[in-house]
Amino acid sequence: MIEKKYDVVVIGAGIHGAGVAQALAVNGYSVLVLEQNTIASGTSSRSSKLIHGGLRYLENLHLSLVKECLQERTLLLRNAPHLVKLVPFYIPVFPETRRRPWQLRTGLSLYALLNSFHSSGRFGTVARQDWQTLDGLETKNLQKVFRYQDAQTDDVLLTRAVMNSAVQHGAQLMMPCEFVNADIDEQGVTVHYRQNGETHQSRASVVVNAAGPWVNQVLTKFNEPHIPLSIELVQGTHIVLPGELTQGVYYIEAPTDHRAVFVMPWKGNTLVGTTETSYSGDPGQVQPLDSEIDYLLKTLIHYFPHYQGKPVLDSFAGLRVLPHEEGHPFSRSRDTRLITDRDRSPRLLSIYGGKLTAYRITAMKVMQKLKTSLRSGSAPLIDTKGIRLDS
Ligand SMILES: Cc1cc2nc3c(=O)[nH]c(=O)nc-3n(C[C@H](O)[C@H](O)[C@H](O)COP(=O)(O)OP(=O)(O)OC[C@H]3O[C@@H](n4cnc5c(N)ncnc54)[C@H](O)[C@@H]3O)c2cc1C
Repeated sequence: MIEKKYDVVVIGAGIHGAGVAQALAVNGYSVLVLEQNTIASGTSSRSSKLIHGGLRYLENLHLSLVKECLQERTLLLRNAPHLVKLVPFYIPVFPETRRRPWQLRTGLSLYALLNSFHSSGRFGTVARQDWQTLDGLETKNLQKVFRYQDAQTDDVLLTRAVMNSAVQHGAQLMMPCEFVNADIDEQGVTVHYRQNGETHQSRASVVVNAAGPWVNQVLTKFNEPHIPLSIELVQGTHIVLPGELTQGVYYIEAPTDHRAVFVMPWKGNTLVGTTETSYSGDPGQVQPLDSEIDYLLKTLIHYFPHYQGKPVLDSFAGLRVLPHEEGHPFSRSRDTRLITDRDRSPRLLSIYGGKLTAYRITAMKVMQKLKTSLRSGSAPLIDTKGIRLDS
C-alpha cells in the first residue's frame, strides 16, 4: 500500500543528498530523504575537509571547476562563517620539489584571477627569518615558502547543517532507512524502503540517487534497465597524529611520487592526506591500507622530522567516484556528472563524483535538470545562494 506521495525521494544523506533536499524544499517541493546509516556516514565524513578551488586542478586545466568552487567558497564563508574558515596555506619548495617557484607563482596568480582578485586570493612568500615559526618544517635546503589562503571546514557538521536547513524548509528525513528498490512507470516512481525491519512504499515524481560510492549499486535496484556510468572507486586515506599545527595547512609533495599531500590542523591534532588506491569491494567496508599509512607517514616525516616515533591516533578512508578513464586518478576530472534515465521529464537522476565545496551549485544543477519532471515546472527557481546555515 502506498503510504505517502512526494515530489522527490532522495537516496543518501551525504552532502549531495542534503544539498538537493535543501534546494527542493526551498523551492516548495515535498521531499523525502532515505539514509541507511547516519548523516555524512559515507564519503562526506572522510574528506580532507577543505573548502577550496583546488589549486592542483589547475595543472590539468580544470579551470571552470576551480572557478566554480572558488565562488562557492566565497558563499560558504558568508553563509556559514562558524563552519567554514579561511586558513593560511604554505607550499615549501626544496631543490627536489617538482613544482618550481615560477610554476607555483603562475598557478597562484591564476587562482587569484579565478577568484576575481578578491582579497582572499592574495598570496606571497614567507620571509626566511620567519621559517622557524612554521611548525617544525624542515628548513635544510629549503628554498622558498609560498603562502596563500584557502578554507577548512568540518565536513560532518557542514553536511548536518545543510540537512538541518532542508528539514527546516520542510524536507523529511528517514534514518536509518534503507532504499530497497523502485519501479518507474509513466506517471512516476514507486519507492520501497526498509525501516525497523519493515518495508514501506511511497510514490514520487522523481528519485534522486545521491548514494555516493553506492551509486551504481542503487541503480541495479530499479525495474527499468539503466546503463550505469562506467566508474572507478578510488580510495583516499588520511591519518591523524598528535601535535597541533599553529600556522595553518601545509601543501607538500610526496618525495616518492610527487603527489600533493596536505598536512592540516585538525581538532588539536595533525591530519595528513591523502592517497589514491583503486578499490573494488563493498563501499561500506573501505579501510586504510598499511601501505597507505606508511606512505603518508614517510611523506610527513620527510618534511616534519619531529613526527618520527609519534603514534597514529586514527586513520580513515573514503571513496572518490571517478569516471573510468585512462591515466592516473590524480589527473582525472573531479567534475560532477548528472545522469538521467531519459532526456525529457526524467524519473531518475544519479549524481556521480563531485566536491564537498560545490554541493550547493550541484544541487541547483539537479533542480534545473528536474524542472520538467516536477509540478509548476515553468516557475523560476529560487536560488539557495542567500540561505545561511545554522549549526
Ligand atoms: C579522500 C577524499 C578527500 C576529499 N576531500 C575533499 C575536500 O577536501 N574538499 C572537497 O570539496 N571535496 C572533497 N572530496 C569530495 C567529497 O568528499 C565528495 O564528493 C562528497 O563527500 C560526496 O558526497 P555524496 O553525498 O555524493 O556521497 P556520500 O557522502 O558517500 O553519501 C552517500 C550516502 O548514501 C547513503 N546510501 C547509500 N546507499 C543507500 C541505500 N541503499 N539506502 C539509503 N542510503 C544509502 C550512504 O549511507 C551515504 O550516507 C574528497 C573525497 C575523498 C574520497
